[in-house]
Amino acid sequence: MSSTSRIPVSWDQITPRLRRGVRLCHDEVRGQDALLHPEGVALLNTTAAATLALVDGRTSVARITLALSCRFRGVCEEDILGLLRRLEEARLVELVSAVPGLLPAVAQPMPRASAADPAFRAAGPRSPSPQLPLGLLAELTHRCPLHCPYCSNPLELTAAAGELPTSTWLDILGQARSLGVLQAHLSGGEPLLRRDLELVAAEARSLGMYVNLVTSGVGLSAGRARALADAGVDHVQLSLQGAQAAIANRVAGAKVHDRKLEAAAAVRAVGMVMTINVVLHRGNAAGIDALAELAASLDADRLELAHAQYYGWALRNRSALLPTAGQVQQAEAMMRAARVRHPDLAIIYVASDYHEKTPKPCMNGWGSRQLTITPDGTVLPCPAATVIRDLEAPHISNAPLARIWAQSPAFTRFRGTSWLPEPCHSCPARETDFGGCRCQAYQLLGDAAATDPVCQYSPRNDTVAAAIAEAADAPPPLIYRTSPPSRATTTAAHGSHFPAPTCPQASANRHPLAIQPVQQHPSAQPNMTSRPFIKEMP
Ligand code: SF4
Ligand code: SF4
Repeated sequence: MSSTSRIPVSWDQITPRLRRGVRLCHDEVRGQDALLHPEGVALLNTTAAATLALVDGRTSVARITLALSCRFRGVCEEDILGLLRRLEEARLVELVSAVPGLLPAVAQPMPRASAADPAFRAAGPRSPSPQLPLGLLAELTHRCPLHCPYCSNPLELTAAAGELPTSTWLDILGQARSLGVLQAHLSGGEPLLRRDLELVAAEARSLGMYVNLVTSGVGLSAGRARALADAGVDHVQLSLQGAQAAIANRVAGAKVHDRKLEAAAAVRAVGMVMTINVVLHRGNAAGIDALAELAASLDADRLELAHAQYYGWALRNRSALLPTAGQVQQAEAMMRAARVRHPDLAIIYVASDYHEKTPKPCMNGWGSRQLTITPDGTVLPCPAATVIRDLEAPHISNAPLARIWAQSPAFTRFRGTSWLPEPCHSCPARETDFGGCRCQAYQLLGDAAATDPVCQYSPRNDTVAAAIAEAADAPPPLIYRTSPPSRATTTAAHGSHFPAPTCPQASANRHPLAIQPVQQHPSAQPNMTSRPFIKEMP
């Protein structure tokens, strides 16, 4: 146990509080408390939940410890502060010291006497059961006033007439919450083009979800921002295409940069948490310094710098967008420097997939944490999954969402790791990266079950090397994203085949101490401006 006599502040002078945009909730589906924050969830065990219930910005660590001592044996200030510091590192909690800049030292690792106490330790593994989804990406529309050449919407866009009506979205939200979803990501296209956006947001919030709005900002007036805040939107992810209007407007294919800056001001004026999202490519990766300064000047809480992932429109424009290895290295150096310059700005960096040696973890496990519903009601395990032509993607009208999640071939086909081929099958990394991205394997190799060719061990890693070499030449002109057709097109028959029930058997990762981090690795998705998921803080 560390000595409190050696430290210049007492436990009574340290007061924790939740960071802006972080909420403590009780999830009745899991029977568990959780911290909800922008695009993330941390499930809490009993002791962490009891601690956080006392975190109100007024109660000191000493008083929290005293209160917990009445309920648990072996509670000490070091343990409490150790937990709170881990939450502080994850940007979920702030520790306010009466002596600015000074906090008590915490012994590392945890003092054995209390960590071993069965009354005050992390809960054991859960009994085997199908893992419940945490996030729903609701693609409300494919309509958008912008034409980004890296847009993650599919090449075949759904017309306005083919979009689900409000009543169906409200029903979907109810089903999703019953299934365990805690994060609603309202996205598009441009979701502001839906006049029922406030209704949908309010329903998600009333069900207890954390509501994220993913938007280009075009159409986000001061009045609309107020209405969305009143409806319960917690967090706005606002895309920028660059730091300067000239490059940003050129990438967006529309003169919208100044309107986005006005939207950012409107978001902050009503107090919603704001992430500035920038998709990085060879045309803007050198501008990270300026992007960080701009995000800070806009008073953003977070800046997400996400290298383009090559699906849909981005794949079509790959040779024009893919940076060189040197550009990626320079971008990473600038990102690290920006983190030092702006410690209060959470800078999230999504790596350049093609320049990594091993792949991103495909959806942090296919069919394990997320589901996507497209504007026409197709239910997908991954937003890019429509590229897998034989996936038999179900439609929301075919079956209840719970049944789709648990039993549909689209969700069970790549669930777990037992299906993995060699070299993944015998690779120790298979439980962390799941063999990489199924959609990428399909797009580049025509086989969704193959090892992601991004992996250095893939027998087809040459395809990625060839793409990088091809992109080193003079870039071809950008092909801009088109608008959806004005009339609904006939969609392919939606699969409705359900096999005998199976148990995904995906038990949750348990944190060794007290919180169960369940955030999704930021590069685990084809993350474009409109592709939010549960994300890990840096
Ligand atoms: S990336 Fe987003 S803002 Fe850009 S065209 Fe696609 S949906 Fe619109
Ligand atoms: S061989 Fe498969 S499991 Fe191993 S690192 Fe490569 S993709 Fe991941």
